[in-house]
Amino acid sequence: MDLLKFRPIVQLAFLLFAILGVVGVGMTGFIYPFFFCYACPYAVASCPIGILEHSVIDMKGNLWAGLQLLAYLLAGFAVVGLLFGRAACGWACPIGFLQDMIDIPRRGILKNKNEWTKIRGPGKFLKFAKYGFLVFVPISTYISNELFYTRFCPVGFMTGTLPTLILFPGEWEVAPGPDFYIKIGTTIFFLLSAVAIGRFWCRFMCPIGAGFGPFNKFSLFRVEVSDKCVDCGMCTKACPMAVDPSVEHRSAECIICGKCVSACKFDACKLTINPVATRRRMGGPPKKRGEVIQRDITKEDEELMERIQREQEEEKKDISDDEDIGGDDDAEE
Ligand code: SF4
Ligand code: SF4
Ligand code: SF4
Repeated sequence: MDLLKFRPIVQLAFLLFAILGVVGVGMTGFIYPFFFCYACPYAVASCPIGILEHSVIDMKGNLWAGLQLLAYLLAGFAVVGLLFGRAACGWACPIGFLQDMIDIPRRGILKNKNEWTKIRGPGKFLKFAKYGFLVFVPISTYISNELFYTRFCPVGFMTGTLPTLILFPGEWEVAPGPDFYIKIGTTIFFLLSAVAIGRFWCRFMCPIGAGFGPFNKFSLFRVEVSDKCVDCGMCTKACPMAVDPSVEHRSAECIICGKCVSACKFDACKLTINPVATRRRMGGPPKKRGEVIQRDITKEDEELMERIQREQEEEKKDISDDEDIGGDDDAEE
């Protein structure tokens, strides 16, 4: 059974869960395990970033109250993280879902020219920016004594401000302040970056993704690559987060979406629920980039690899033919 087919349904279900206020469910006192603004008129839980900011402000007035709020947030994060790692990003977060939806037409148009959008080289450094934002949230709150990050949060604009203005147009009568325009700017940046580079926000900007990432090392639910791997590279090609699961074991970047599992024709890549925390690839020693694999390759493997190589070459040829035709057209113009 290809689990991946159910992912959009699960993502949609979590979006509906996030706005259960539509059917009269009030604020529950829980925290969303993803990015979603509690300013949404139908929100039923709190945004983790908002809670982090409130805990810092509370601490300044009443240390114990602030610490309790922070402990509640961290405990919730630890439970979700230890069970599911960053799977909430791949399966539950409405903002991840939005980026996946933006990705569909982009992938259709770009075909495998999509590869360049993964910006693998710069991505190795840019991915640390999100940890910077995670640290920035409490520090900026402490210094400014206000919900500073919230002032320019595009997620707050998309899931809080915008639905409020659509559902309660009377709010437009209140003259918008500078924060409103800053958020419009960051939201435009979010959308343009999502169009240009798949899951840009999740890879480089999101403090919640940064918070969940390290849990991938210990989580019950995860992706494992076994020694059936023949290094064909199809998994990393399919990965929206530019991870190579055959090399980067339990990467903090992995959102456990399962795309690599569907892409692997050798049954080597699997979504697993395993209480034993492995630190290396299943069934063998950790493999380094470019290392020659140890296992015997069967005749069937060879045939499959040849077929994959043929398909890849045909795809490349199709693209270069398209480019030639485009180039000829340009020349004729
Ligand atoms: S990284 Fe942030 S925005 Fe992306 S899916 Fe995870 S929580 Fe949502
Ligand atoms: S697609 Fe499968 S066989 Fe190919 S590199 Fe990835 S895990 Fe290994
Ligand atoms: S490694 Fe696999 S599960 Fe992880 S983000 Fe990439 S495609 Fe998804």
